[in-house]
Amino acid sequence: MEKAGNDYEAVVGLEIHCELSTKTKAFCSCESAFGGEPNSRCCPVCFGLPGALPALNMKAAEFAVRAGVALNCRISRISSFDRKNYFYPDLPKGYQITQQRNPICRDGFIDIQSSGAKKRIRIERIHLEEDAGKLIHRDGETLIDYNRAGVPLIEIVTKPDISSAREAQDFVRKLRSIILCTAISDCRMNEGSLRVDVNISVKRKTDAELGVRTEIKNLNSVNAIGKAIESEFSRQVSLVSKGIPLSRETMRFDPVSKSTLTMRSKESYNDYRYFAEPDIPPLVLSEEFISCVEQSMPELPERKAERYVSVFGISEDSAFLISGNNDASAYFEKAAESCSYLKTLSNMITSTLFPAFGDDGTDMSRLPEPEHLSEIADLSGTGTINSLTAKKLMELSAKEKKSPREIVERDCLAVIRDRDRIKKLIGAALSEMPKAKSDYLRGKKAALKSIVGRAMFLSGGLADPELLNEEAENQLAEKE
Ligand SMILES: [Zn+2]
Repeated sequence: MEKAGNDYEAVVGLEIHCELSTKTKAFCSCESAFGGEPNSRCCPVCFGLPGALPALNMKAAEFAVRAGVALNCRISRISSFDRKNYFYPDLPKGYQITQQRNPICRDGFIDIQSSGAKKRIRIERIHLEEDAGKLIHRDGETLIDYNRAGVPLIEIVTKPDISSAREAQDFVRKLRSIILCTAISDCRMNEGSLRVDVNISVKRKTDAELGVRTEIKNLNSVNAIGKAIESEFSRQVSLVSKGIPLSRETMRFDPVSKSTLTMRSKESYNDYRYFAEPDIPPLVLSEEFISCVEQSMPELPERKAERYVSVFGISEDSAFLISGNNDASAYFEKAAESCSYLKTLSNMITSTLFPAFGDDGTDMSRLPEPEHLSEIADLSGTGTINSLTAKKLMELSAKEKKSPREIVERDCLAVIRDRDRIKKLIGAALSEMPKAKSDYLRGKKAALKSIVGRAMFLSGGLADPELLNEEAENQLAEKE
């Protein structure tokens, strides 16, 4: 199987549903926040009762345009709404209002950095639509909460430019940090305000033609996205390499068995009987409206990264990584205010502390206060402490919430450069290791290393290695 897997590559496109954090729903004035007593935030428009007329919430349109600008899209001056018809209990109207033919944004892209290389993932379209209600399965019954029905969503559809689980995860992380910057959604994957569908097919690396594609619905964590792609990739490869044809299916990912399971055979476009929404006129956006949104955009990760390189002088890789996570960049900027060694500071964040900035939020208990990290970077930059001590200090000051300078003093963690102490350390090492000493004197120069190593051990890893080396050579020369 391994062997067959190597001949194939995954072709992946994503559909990302992102709930917009407007105060009210997309087409009525019901409250749209997450939660609330079940079915307490609904009205005749939500249910599509006879005579109820939907009207577009312009805040939702503005938020969709913000997303489009942030994702380098073309904004449509005219877009329109359609009905997507299907029957499912979470959809009280029997149809969903969406934008099938004329979406509000098209042709954007995001640059990601995956496995050390930059890659551009194109975005085909962003359309505005409404969410469905929520089915709650309990004690053999199914309950329905329509509070979510009608909450505005954008669906971001990528081109099939993604070729591995890792790239898909990096894309979603980057997308999430951009959307969070624009403040149009809270992007909480665990609460369902950001959900991802994966379209995946496999093809031989040498083939141009794409294989039959399946869709995995409603993935709600970055981890699940990676696992689902990996498992579906191997399932498809194992069938295709044996010559068994695949069928177009809609699947779900089972986190327990870590495998993809068939939900239903894929609906075709015609099954939805799309037609123009008769109750909502086309959305016409003026130049003023669009340029107003453009001018109100915050600093996005890409810009941030450029500023970190030009103003703070840190490496491009560190800048890209830090700017791609909003918590990490806020933390870095706070620490940078009082720090003189910014490269050291940024390296500490990317190489040691980055795992604390997780996909489901930041684990503050693993991070020192930003001011304290800045002290550690300065202590390290001036050579007062070595890199091992720096790591230890990050842990200690995260735990104790104390100033690293105080900890260094209290626990005597500064690098030892005092000549007398260095002399004593080498003297002690030499008297403990008569054999190494005589080996060295008989010309086995490598014995010096073990003597210096012993002295370093005796200093608790704190002595200056160059001074130890120098002193060992001196003392051994005297003995010759
Ligand atoms: Zn309503």
